[in-house]
Amino acid sequence: MNILVLNAGSSTLKFELIRTDRERLAADADEKLARGVIERIGAEAILELDVTGGGHRVETAPLADIREAVEWLLRWIASAESGIDIDSLAEIHGVGHRVVHGGEDFRASVRIDDDVLSRLQDMIHLAPLHNPHNIRGIEAVRQVLGSGVPQAAVFDTAFHADLPEHAYLYAVPYSLYRRHRIRRYGFHGTSHRYVAWRYRKLLEVEKEDVRIITVHLGNGCSACAIDGGRSVDTSMGFTPLEGLVMGTRAGDLDPALLEYIAAREGMNVREVTNLLNKQSGLLGISGLTHDMRELLAEEAEHDDRRARLAIDLFCYRVRKYLGSYLAVLEGADAIVLTGGIGQNSAAIRQRILGPMGWAGLHLDEARNSDSADRGPRRVSTDDSPLAAWVIPTDEELLIARDTVRLIG
Ligand code: ADP
Repeated sequence: MNILVLNAGSSTLKFELIRTDRERLAADADEKLARGVIERIGAEAILELDVTGGGHRVETAPLADIREAVEWLLRWIASAESGIDIDSLAEIHGVGHRVVHGGEDFRASVRIDDDVLSRLQDMIHLAPLHNPHNIRGIEAVRQVLGSGVPQAAVFDTAFHADLPEHAYLYAVPYSLYRRHRIRRYGFHGTSHRYVAWRYRKLLEVEKEDVRIITVHLGNGCSACAIDGGRSVDTSMGFTPLEGLVMGTRAGDLDPALLEYIAAREGMNVREVTNLLNKQSGLLGISGLTHDMRELLAEEAEHDDRRARLAIDLFCYRVRKYLGSYLAVLEGADAIVLTGGIGQNSAAIRQRILGPMGWAGLHLDEARNSDSADRGPRRVSTDDSPLAAWVIPTDEELLIARDTVRLIG
């Protein structure tokens, strides 16, 4: 089956085209056909397209909205020009969507029908920055391919659906939970779930025996304590703002700051929330950029004090969470890093994990700094009681596989 995986944002559409079916997924032999991103959807959208075994292409096109972007993408896939071994739209057998928030309703991936769509509409208030775009992506596919082509929704929150009450509740009046479902939901679930699954495969252990901490460090960052293969705590909360320091998000802070910043800066609550989401984190501290690679370069080349401070704060916060999740799990077998920063930066891994000898984690310098190895790998010494791993995440693969399972 050819499954199109879509991640629709406010002005971007990321996609991957994956050939998979029950046999292929059982054999871990799914085939990636193409991937890419359409950015700055509008008068001059930028399209970056990669076909496996083919070339890398960048072009521009006027694509007014998500629907036009989806339509363009589907027609390109089916065209001879793309070079993809798909000759017509009928050969796209299903579409899987990343949906950010599934609330308490959606505890696992679902096949999309009218009822699911209307329940998703009803919970837009939980994720007003993300879910509306995800829904638009689903509707666009329906318009272009017709409702006969099955679609599935895979939620960022679902992996955390079994968090215990003491982990998901905030210590605010319980009536707020009852009335408004105010609680911690957690995000990045598809990434944490993929990494935990891949770890299990690599180590050849049963799901029940997976007791690890996964740390996704990309533009957004989160940590997850996994016991018996299930998420038992995670650092993001009611929204993705809570927890680790991120590219532009502050992570944990004292909520009393909201009123104080608003009063001092003459802002309203919405503006302060925006500041905490969009102008804080690495960008806020460094005053330079949200991009870790650029910060590391600033630090190395110009000895920039604020770049160093931003990186130190970032690493410190991750380590603080690792310590608390080791306590939550009463010890763990491994810490697994993933995401653009976790996968690619030996320097950041060293700064986070280097001082964790007390916990029995000993980095192997040669393994950690081997930049030629881009696959899953152990970066601690063989005799480390607490292992450290790098496992590249693959959310799209999990979305494609869930879609196949749901549409059969
Ligand atoms: P997203 O969360 O949007 O999917 P990614 O997972 O691609 O983003 O992560 C983006 C982050 O990874 C950026 O901060 C980028 O600088 C960082 N990154 C990518 N490669 C490296 C590298 N070699 N060294 C340090 N940071 C890197």
